Amino acid sequence: MADSKPVNCPGVSKIVRPVPEYAECPNCKGSIEFWSDEDMGKCYECDREYPKALQDASCLDWCPQADNCRVMIKENKSS
Ligand SMILES: [Zn+2]
Repeated sequence: MADSKPVNCPGVSKIVRPVPEYAECPNCKGSIEFWSDEDMGKCYECDREYPKALQDASCLDWCPQADNCRVMIKENKSS
């Protein structure tokens, strides 16, 4: 079956299947790892934690269907 319909809103695919993103640590220039489903990132080198930049606001902050997605994400995580 060539059914390419997404199983969830494509906007939250990064949250449903978290991927890491990296930034430079302002403290030690090490690598901070930000997971796409978490609000905080942690530096590999000095263990400091940083809040994720606000530019990462997702469709969940905007979309009228966001509550449906939140329920789905929660179910996904608990399974
Ligand atoms: Zn650091």
